This record gives sequence, C-alpha cells and structure tokens, in this order.
Amino acid sequence: MSEPLSSKHIGDRLESEVIQVGRPLPRETIRATESGILANCSASHCNWQGLFPNSELAKQAVETHYDHALEDADSRTRAIHMGSRTYQLTALLDAETAQQLDTSNPGLGTPGWRSKDQTGSVREPVFPRTTGSVDELVGRGDVIERAPYHQNEIVKRVSQTRSAGLPTWTVVFVAHNRHELETLDDATVDDLHYINECIARDGKVYERYGEDPLNNPAFDVVGGAEHQAHLHAFATGGGRGAE
Ligand SMILES: [Zn+2]
Repeated sequence: MSEPLSSKHIGDRLESEVIQVGRPLPRETIRATESGILANCSASHCNWQGLFPNSELAKQAVETHYDHALEDADSRTRAIHMGSRTYQLTALLDAETAQQLDTSNPGLGTPGWRSKDQTGSVREPVFPRTTGSVDELVGRGDVIERAPYHQNEIVKRVSQTRSAGLPTWTVVFVAHNRHELETLDDATVDDLHYINECIARDGKVYERYGEDPLNNPAFDVVGGAEHQAHLHAFATGGGRGAE
C-alpha cells in the first residue's frame, strides 16, 4: 500500500492529478499549495493561471494557452494574445516563501543555469507569501500608523489583489492631513493613498517586496472608528468621534 500523497506538494503527485488551471485560480487553492510552479499569463486583461509540478510543464501550458487564445472565437481574446508571449513563473518554495523565475532563461529547470548577476548570485528574487488574510487584520474605519511617519491614517478600504499570481491585498487610506473631511465617503481620489502588495504574517501586515520585507510591518493598527465617523475628530485628537 502506498502512502497517501499530500496535495500540498504538487511536485509529489502524478501529473494528471496535479495540474490545475483557472481564470484565475481560487486564492484558497494557491494558499493551500506549499510547493509547485505557478504560471500567469501576462497579456493585458487575461487572468489565466496554472499550478504545475515543474517549470517545463508550466511553460508548455502557457504555450498551449496562447495557441488556444489565438484560435478563440472571441476577437478580443485573440487580440490581447497577439505579439510576444508574456508570462510569469513563480516557484512556490514552501508555505511561506516563493521565488520569481526568469522566464527568458532556457535553463529554467536547472538551478545551475539560472540567470546570475556579476557576483554569481541568482537574479531571481525570493519573497514572503501570505500566511493569513490581511482583511481579517485591518478594515474600513481602522486607524493605522505607518513607520516612519507616525501619523494616524484612516483606512477607507482593503481590497484583494495578486502579485506574481499570489494572493496579496491593497490597503487604501485617507491621509492624516485630509481628516477635515466629514466621512470616509467624502474622500476623493486625490485624498487616497495606497499600500500595495500587502501580506499577513502572525497578525501583522507587511509589504511583500523590498530588501527585507519582514523586517518592519507596513503599519500598526492603533484603533478603530465607526464607519461613518467624523474624520476631523482624529485631526483634533478627539479619538473615536462621538464616544
Ligand atoms: Zn492569456
């Protein structure tokens, strides 16, 4: 009798069982997969994604996706896939780490052939994956404090996004100097700021890019507010408005 194989490790499974393709794949599917290769079509407005046991299969699947798209009955699908075939490949290294692969390098599956810089380091950034949900940690009306500014900002919304195909979130806030606005709904595009590619780790929110992404949280949640709180109360140190 053989051991039951873990669905978390795509590389362990038979090819026919493990290839998952979607437009796009559910965030939960990606979150639950610890290892494998995630491929994304980069054609504008195309959300095609696939999870594969290795980068060769991922590349083949992208080629097949492009071949089919160029024969699609929908002329828009054909139009966005004309020209160069662009895609991203992301190696899921474990539940907490991923690596961007260089798709221009023919030695994709051979570590020794990977693209290198002059010092010999592999030029494919390793970055942290989310292990929680940012929208469970922060939401509309919360007061956040961003280092190094130490100003209280008020969150307008938290939206689900993707970066390199992996689940991320964008936190949109109204800057402290615009808190003379009556409510969050009065904030216009000019009042809003964006913290992109956010991930969750142990109850904190981080930006997934940069030199040492997990060194400092993107912000601390320092308070909550009623959804329709009068924002100017924060500007004058009034805290939670009508309390
Ligand atoms: Zn596509």
